[in-house]
Amino acid sequence: MFDTLSDRLTSALQSLSRKGRLSDADIDATAREIRIALLEADVALPVVKAFIAKIKDRAKGAEVSQALNPAQQVVKIVNEELVGILGGETRRLNLAKNPPSVIMLAGLQGAGKTTLAGKLAMWLKKQGHAPMLVACDLQRPNAVNQLQIVGERAGVTTFAPEPGNGVGDPVDVARRAIEEAKHAQHDIVVVDTAGRLGVDEELMKQAADIREAVQPDEVLFVVDAMIGQDAVTTAEAFRDGVGFTGVVLTKLDGDARGGAALSVREVTGQPILFASNGEKLEDFDTFHPDRMASRILGMGDVLTLIEQAEQHFDQEQAEQAAQKLTSGQLTLEDFLEQMLAVRKMGPIGNLLGMLPGAGQMKDQLAAVDDKQLDRLQAIIRGMTPAERADPKIINGSRRLRIANGSGVTVREVNDLVNRFFEARKMMAQMAGRFGF
Ligand code: GDP
Repeated sequence: MFDTLSDRLTSALQSLSRKGRLSDADIDATAREIRIALLEADVALPVVKAFIAKIKDRAKGAEVSQALNPAQQVVKIVNEELVGILGGETRRLNLAKNPPSVIMLAGLQGAGKTTLAGKLAMWLKKQGHAPMLVACDLQRPNAVNQLQIVGERAGVTTFAPEPGNGVGDPVDVARRAIEEAKHAQHDIVVVDTAGRLGVDEELMKQAADIREAVQPDEVLFVVDAMIGQDAVTTAEAFRDGVGFTGVVLTKLDGDARGGAALSVREVTGQPILFASNGEKLEDFDTFHPDRMASRILGMGDVLTLIEQAEQHFDQEQAEQAAQKLTSGQLTLEDFLEQMLAVRKMGPIGNLLGMLPGAGQMKDQLAAVDDKQLDRLQAIIRGMTPAERADPKIINGSRRLRIANGSGVTVREVNDLVNRFFEARKMMAQMAGRFGF
């Protein structure tokens, strides 16, 4: 997501950095490039026009900073305006003073609502809430069952109509679910509603009826970021037909051009609360406009990376490993543990993509794939604990056994062992030189 846009914006802005002073003509030329980049990324035309007008106005205006050179100033302006169209401040969920809070999900079929219900439930649970899912999609065959499955995976209760008891009336199901939540002390109810393949009146009416009946604290419009310009028309239809208080973008992991993400807030006036970026329940997070803008501009998203690391790393273990690393005592066992911890954070490409400058290192990043890491893991797992602690003892016949056992060639085993020795030596030397 955003790769092409990110590349183009970065190169438009980089060409400025070679100039000491910027003339109006320089700014116009850069604005033109940014405009093309946004249009190619499928950002809605009115949004592009307003964005470019603001950039030009601010860049040509009298914003003079001692600390920044003119090119850096333009980058700062573009960054701030990007944060602005993405919604400015991070918007948190509004919850009711008197539980249960009700969160209703609406959107087209296939947008990712049911998956999102599971993701949201798991996320809420981690925050200490006791959520309940409610199956109000009674149209699509199997939808109730699908919600029950994601509910189970997230470890939360799912309220579903029993045969013969209110089947066919989602409004009734939603009402009963809220009563049930009060009894069972669930503090948040997430209502999944029916979607259709296209916008239609009956769908809108049903969602509006549910909204009317349960008075949700949040109505989240779930939209597939891959549908490009259509995201905007669909959002407008839902805004007018049902009304919503926030947006969830799904499938941000796809290779779409990203225009939906950049248009939907500006066009509907409602903030983006969450972003989904994968099929697994963990592939989901709060949407932070400032971090997203920084990623689009190739400035990395180090904050998200740190947060993910904090969630998945055992601080003590990491410190021990760092200590061993700098004193030249790191073993392959430590290396394996650290590698497993990093991989819990998600696909390696996603992680590396959050680093500053990742845009320019795309080719190298593409070469680091998860399969390669799988192979390294398999090799280390094929060794005995004594071999992991001291790979020097691994002789020729053991190397062959390890290679056969882990489905790789002897050369790969040799490579790993040699590179490990080199890295260990280098780290110890560096530690000596820099005194850490
Ligand atoms: P619903 O019809 O709105 O309830 O949509 P579903 O939750 O059934 O999702 C439709 C399809 O999109 C399923 O195959 C999901 O696995 C997939 N999906 C949902 N969210 C994401 C996401 O963030 N990334 C990717 N790649 N796929 C997703």
